[in-house]
Amino acid sequence: MKKYASVLVDINKLGTKTFSYLVPEKMKENLKIGQAVSIPFGRRKENLKAYIVGFTNYLEEGIKPKEIDEILELEPLFSLEYLNLLEWVANYYCCDLQTVLNTALPQKFFEKNVKKYRAPRIKNEVFNTGKKEENIILSPAQEEVYNQIKRIGAKTSLIHGITGSGKTEIYFKLIQDTINEGKNVIFLAPEIALVSQLTMRSIERFGKESIAIWHSSITEAQKYETWKKLKNNEIKILFGARSAVFAPIQNLGLIIIDEEHDSGYKQTMPNPRYNAKDVAKKLCELYDAKLVLGSATPSIESYYEAINTNSLFKLKERYNKASLADISIIDMKTERAEKNYSLFSKTLIQKTKEEVEKGRQVIYLINRRGYSSYTQCMECGEVIECKKCAIPMIYHSQTNSYKCHWCSCEIEASNLRCPKCNSSALEHFGTGSQKVEIKAKEMFPSYRIERLDSDSLSKKNEHIEILKRFQNKEIDILIGTQMIAKGLDNKNVTLVGVINADLSFNLPDYRSSERGFSILTQVAGRAGRGENKGKVIFQTYSPQNLFLQNAQNQDYETFFENETKTREMFDYPPYSKIIRLILSSKSEFKAQKASSEIELYLSEYLKKLSLDETILVLGPSPCVINKIRDEFRYNIIIKNKISTMGHRTILRFIKSIKLPKDIKLAVDIDPNDIL
Ligand SMILES: [Zn+2]
Ligand SMILES: [Zn+2]
Repeated sequence: MKKYASVLVDINKLGTKTFSYLVPEKMKENLKIGQAVSIPFGRRKENLKAYIVGFTNYLEEGIKPKEIDEILELEPLFSLEYLNLLEWVANYYCCDLQTVLNTALPQKFFEKNVKKYRAPRIKNEVFNTGKKEENIILSPAQEEVYNQIKRIGAKTSLIHGITGSGKTEIYFKLIQDTINEGKNVIFLAPEIALVSQLTMRSIERFGKESIAIWHSSITEAQKYETWKKLKNNEIKILFGARSAVFAPIQNLGLIIIDEEHDSGYKQTMPNPRYNAKDVAKKLCELYDAKLVLGSATPSIESYYEAINTNSLFKLKERYNKASLADISIIDMKTERAEKNYSLFSKTLIQKTKEEVEKGRQVIYLINRRGYSSYTQCMECGEVIECKKCAIPMIYHSQTNSYKCHWCSCEIEASNLRCPKCNSSALEHFGTGSQKVEIKAKEMFPSYRIERLDSDSLSKKNEHIEILKRFQNKEIDILIGTQMIAKGLDNKNVTLVGVINADLSFNLPDYRSSERGFSILTQVAGRAGRGENKGKVIFQTYSPQNLFLQNAQNQDYETFFENETKTREMFDYPPYSKIIRLILSSKSEFKAQKASSEIELYLSEYLKKLSLDETILVLGPSPCVINKIRDEFRYNIIIKNKISTMGHRTILRFIKSIKLPKDIKLAVDIDPNDIL
């Protein structure tokens, strides 16, 4: 019996909400989850468009529901299984279903000018690939990995392939197999630029008709169209960034997640703070599909799991037998002792000249945007900080202003004086990408030098233009932040200089070594992808750093061993799962008091359940960045060593928390960082 239906509706200012409606007798037979219906709402004259998300036979007392007026689309736009996936996301990431639906469904779903229902064109025939299949020729090393993956047939497989080893060829072969079986594929990349690159490559291989793209730059109208095509089984391969895991692909056979270590797969703001990798795992479970992860620097968690489930596959050589670059570490302390005060070591200057003179190209990585890292008063020592966030403001030379990288507020630099002593003797310290650009242009006045970082993203398509010019050999030296470490495949790059390798390691966060190792390895992988051997230079003030040495040797295995030892000692993932509670308030006292109380209750609660040795509670403590946008932040870190059972226990506790209105609680499950 379907007496009442709960429907999801978008009410302009309130956002989407669910309400209960009476199901009219005549609709009882054909009303289904996912259908669009028309409902009377409040005192409005016009009906609203809504979606059926559930049925019930009972309502709370006192509710007098109205009747559903009409079915607008007979063909449901989502299924019960789909709703189950979203419910799982809501439960696991501790937010409500509404929020997840908002993220997952295109906004166009709720537009008022509702078209009449039209029957879908159903295409079910197996994708015709013609002769293209023969094009996929694997090297012996690729062939071996491909065969192993097929033979073992693990639910989740991890391909650990060094940079330039040609993982994509294996992905394509697996895609081909899946399509031949009559099933469909989702292919995720961490960034829109990488998604576009992959899509171009696969159009050449699989043709245009059955391919679609899904990421945040696609318009809502396009998403709506793609959604319908997906529902009608007209799409065989969907390429996308993290949000593509919510696209309603039919008949799923395979999900591929390339650069699986990338933090871009996790949404940090706003809710739901989901990780596409974990949602993909769930999706594969629901549809009995396979998941293939790939990276040159896998995340510690994925690698650990792959080892323990016998599903790790290694590609140890570069495609076309290209050799890995030679990496050297240069101690900048020695350079200074020899009176070289420039940002560039003598070796880097000399090598840059040699390579550019030969018509080859160079990359300089500096993992910080802006001009400097902080500005200090030379009279009293005060550091210029953002008034709303407790972090130093970053000087930007292009705009001659100070910017806060957290809240994006900006102040004019020309008349700025020290807020403490009013002195005008302010000096910039540390190095950002703008400074490297300026200094490089001074050092090499005749070379063509350009910069690529998220500041150059502000102008539409500028970063694509820069990358195009770089591929066309119109730029000699490309300077950039970690953006240039990803996916860039230019065979003419023979030298990579890392201006300050230490920057990648010194964040106070348990993942900082992993991130540093990964960025350095990835950027080193940009050198020597063609016929000419590459050279990489890491400039550092701490050459003894073990992880820097691991990156120099491109030795993931040793890095993994070292890093897991530390993680085990301190119960960090993969030896636990982390849940982070962040309490924030305009009043520091209130934020601190509330977090202390929660910590106390939580500890007592776990003790009562005798779980205080398997679920560890740290804090409360002020967050590393203890103020953002005028709100003080405290956090409690929970390390759960008993996975699913522990997770449920903690969530039950979190849901029981009641806070005054002026205190906010954010729950971050499996956070990217704990800053
Ligand atoms: Zn700020
Ligand atoms: Zn001062």
